[in-house]
Amino acid sequence: VTCQAAASQSDAPTKVVDTGLPRTAVVGVLGGGQLGKMMAQEAAKMGVTLKVLDPTPNCPASVVAQQTLGSFRDPEAVREFAKGCDVLTVEIEHIDADAMQAVADQSGVEVQPTPHTMRVIQDKYRQKQHFQEAGVPLPQFREIKCSKCAEGAGRIFGYPYMLKSKTLAYDGRGNAVVKSEEDIAAAVASLGGYEKGLYAEKWVPFVCELAVMVVRSRDGSVASFPVVQTIHKDSICWTTETPARVPVAAQRRAQQVAEQAISALEGAGVFGVETFLLADGSVLLNEVAPRPHNSGHYTIEACPSSQFEAHLRAVLGWPLGDCGLRVGASIMLNILGEADGEEGERKAHELMGRAFAVPGASVHWYGKAGVAPQRKIGHITVVGKDNEEVRHRLRAIDPVAADAIEA
Ligand code: ATP
Ligand code: MG
Ligand code: MG
Repeated sequence: VTCQAAASQSDAPTKVVDTGLPRTAVVGVLGGGQLGKMMAQEAAKMGVTLKVLDPTPNCPASVVAQQTLGSFRDPEAVREFAKGCDVLTVEIEHIDADAMQAVADQSGVEVQPTPHTMRVIQDKYRQKQHFQEAGVPLPQFREIKCSKCAEGAGRIFGYPYMLKSKTLAYDGRGNAVVKSEEDIAAAVASLGGYEKGLYAEKWVPFVCELAVMVVRSRDGSVASFPVVQTIHKDSICWTTETPARVPVAAQRRAQQVAEQAISALEGAGVFGVETFLLADGSVLLNEVAPRPHNSGHYTIEACPSSQFEAHLRAVLGWPLGDCGLRVGASIMLNILGEADGEEGERKAHELMGRAFAVPGASVHWYGKAGVAPQRKIGHITVVGKDNEEVRHRLRAIDPVAADAIEA
């Protein structure tokens, strides 16, 4: 179901919900990057205290949340951090899942999403196996342990195919395109060798990429936000547009696939689901993130209840909220570092400066310690009455991105 449908059914008398938790709940978040920061902003709005565990001094979330300095990959630090929390959750998947499990087993702290779900998702190969067993449509994939397997993948999938790291991947940094058999050695080396843990995926000739934020309650019910169309630049999310400019049937299919995938996991929270739309209208799952997601940032301005609010409500066991659109359309533009240091900062500020002058545009600056090429340092969301209006507004901020969207 979409939340919109749920909301219209329950417009009449509302009942008071006993959440079982004090209204002064303390939520502990593993990770304090921009996602933790935006989660903390929503927590503050609802009177929820949010703490983050992050190893970088003055992490982005620290301006709005209490930061504990420490690694979310360090079991002792995670256990210590969880002591003062009612709920432990994450804003990054590369955490120590065993430490989360220990917190769940040995303390009264609610841990969401579950450590099991974190483990399944952390390893992208295991994730693919899990969703395949659940009947979710996926690109063909296979494990790659040696050059023989890599050559075999080329024979079965054809070239090019995509070689991927099983773990610790983000922003395309764990991916390498294998263009031919001669290309295998270089592709494998670029990912750190076979011993890093690799798998291959058949090349997907997608029409476009669609993402869906799905929120899952503690009792397992799911609801999805409107579908977004994403455009990547060098494998990094660059823009998102909602409503996606694809047939309604394709949007519905993307939501179905996304909800099917998230129903096959356990635990509560928001999940970012990335999919590929094919020319025949079918949709394949790319991957899932067990947390709010870059392609859901538009929900802050475009929905009554953002993905960050939805995540907090879900992990706290509160009603999920209304995740329909409250505007006609929206576009999100990531501010990606274009250069190092001051030069990069100057370019980003130019973009922000233009956005401040455009109606319907909101600027988010993450406050990361430094600007570097390809780094996500902020984003801009533009809302308006329809796709045409938001595209026009984006053009005044970044004509190159506007061209990419209209291409
Ligand atoms: P994220 O930052 O979203 O976590 P990631 O590093 O985990 O990204 P993927 O999502 O696996 O990487 O891939 C990044 C991008 O590469 C995809 O969004 C898509 O544009 C492209 N891509 C990935 N897999 C394939 C494939 N099998 N065929 C064609 N393109 C692909
Ligand atoms: Mg990923
Ligand atoms: Mg991805």
